[in-house]
Amino acid sequence: MKVEQKKQLKKIIDGQIEELQEEIEAMKIALYPKKGNAPSDKVAHLYFKQEQSINIQRLEEATKRLNRLKNAYLKIDTKDYGICKECEEPIPLPRLELMPESLYCVACIQELGI
Ligand SMILES: [Zn+2]
Repeated sequence: MKVEQKKQLKKIIDGQIEELQEEIEAMKIALYPKKGNAPSDKVAHLYFKQEQSINIQRLEEATKRLNRLKNAYLKIDTKDYGICKECEEPIPLPRLELMPESLYCVACIQELGI
C-alpha cells in the first residue's frame, strides 16, 4: 500500500472514529435518561425497557466497532495492515475505505462465514 493511500485511510478512520464516538455518546444519553425524564406509567416503562435492550445491543456493537477502528488506526503503519488474515492477499482498497477495520477480504469472509 502506498504512503498516500495510508494517509487517506487514516483520515477515513479518524472521521469514522469521531462519528462513532458521537453516536455512542448520543446512545448513552438516550439509554440513561435523567430521573425527571424517566417514563412514569407501566406501559411506557415496558416500552422503554424494550427500547433500552435494543439500544444496549446497538451500543455494544458500536463500541466493538470503535475498538476495531482504533486498532486499525494503530496498525495502519505496520506491514500487516490491509492484508487478509486468511489468504494473505492485499484487501482491495475500496473495501478498506468503506471498512478500514477489515481483517479479511470479501472472498474469505464468505468462505469462513464470518
Ligand atoms: Zn482473503
